[in-house]
Amino acid sequence: MSNNKQIYFDNAATTKIYDESLDVMNDIELNYYSNPSSMHRLGFVAEQKLKQYTKEACDILNVSENEIIWTSGATESNNFALFQLAKKLNKKGRHIITTNIEHPSISKVIDKLENDGYQITRLSVDNNGLINLEELEKSITEETIFATIIYVNNEIGSIQNIEQINKILKQKNIILHVDATQGFMKIPFDIKKIGIDLMSVSAHKIHGPKGIGFLYIDKNLKLEPFLLGGGQQNNMRSGTINTPRICSFIKAIQISHQNMEFNYKKVYNLKKYLTDNINVLNNELKDISINCDIDKTSPYITSLTIKDIRSEVLLHSLEEDNIYVSAGSACSSNKNIVSNTLKSIGLKNSLIENTIRISFSEFNEIVEIDNFIYVLKNRIPLLRKFVRN
Ligand code: PMP
Repeated sequence: MSNNKQIYFDNAATTKIYDESLDVMNDIELNYYSNPSSMHRLGFVAEQKLKQYTKEACDILNVSENEIIWTSGATESNNFALFQLAKKLNKKGRHIITTNIEHPSISKVIDKLENDGYQITRLSVDNNGLINLEELEKSITEETIFATIIYVNNEIGSIQNIEQINKILKQKNIILHVDATQGFMKIPFDIKKIGIDLMSVSAHKIHGPKGIGFLYIDKNLKLEPFLLGGGQQNNMRSGTINTPRICSFIKAIQISHQNMEFNYKKVYNLKKYLTDNINVLNNELKDISINCDIDKTSPYITSLTIKDIRSEVLLHSLEEDNIYVSAGSACSSNKNIVSNTLKSIGLKNSLIENTIRISFSEFNEIVEIDNFIYVLKNRIPLLRKFVRN
């Protein structure tokens, strides 16, 4: 089996933009480029375009227009939510609940708040990456002001039961922010039915453009703006409104929403096929395993440990066969940080260094997994020879 075609298994880092989203972006950049805040006719036309698209997104998400704040992506949304919640509520209390498997755009903000005097509970997870709901309930104190919990983890794909988590928090009237970046439009999630207060997402994880996302804030919760300036977006986030990227993102929301169930089934079958083939490979070559149960995780993300082969070595070796995966989490610019998430599910440090992430999109195919397994079968004995001899 030869493999010359590019195999892209790094979709949790970012995805390829849909043609339709790119078309929308081009159309707006070329034909509706005026500033939607300008008072002249062209500004009005651009504003109408934006309104039309925004309405479509809000209908899909079942939220109102003033509950969505467009940002530059999930990092900004997460920073906005956490800093402004802490600022608003610090008279009420100074205790925050989170998990120890958050993305750095949450965990670094939490570390900063801790330095500033807030008390933090970081909930541990089991070996499937799931928090314990009783522990969550017990961690709530009179001082607790909010919780921030990741929906789908970016390294292992664990899916938290946000509905149950929110029920527990709401018994004590505690605000919940959810980083839904890896689950948005992939795994069904009804914001209003579940009743969460804030949610962050990024467009480029769902075949939308890079540099755009939003923060959902329930209309009953009033926060101060994070970026100050010209007062755009009802004064909540200043900066010229990014009409082309917002509309292009909304196009991606429409497409992925329409195909969510079909894509889920397709990608689930890919992960099942990968898992079965890895098990067969493990019988032959030993010490190869997938972390976390397939039914407790997102089918879009698979964490794979191959003992004695460093992830960077394997990553570059696969690259020679035009196969692209990531080492642990590609979301961090510092590649030498030991993954907290992998540590939290009980992986030893030596195995953490032997772990790669394979992340699918709806565009991956079974034949690509066949190629991947074929390449692994050939490369693993060769790469292990260096270490084991
Ligand atoms: N949260 C999670 C769970 C993520 O996976 C990412 C992206 N790796 C982010 C937040 C940050 O998204 P962005 O880089 O688009 O700001």
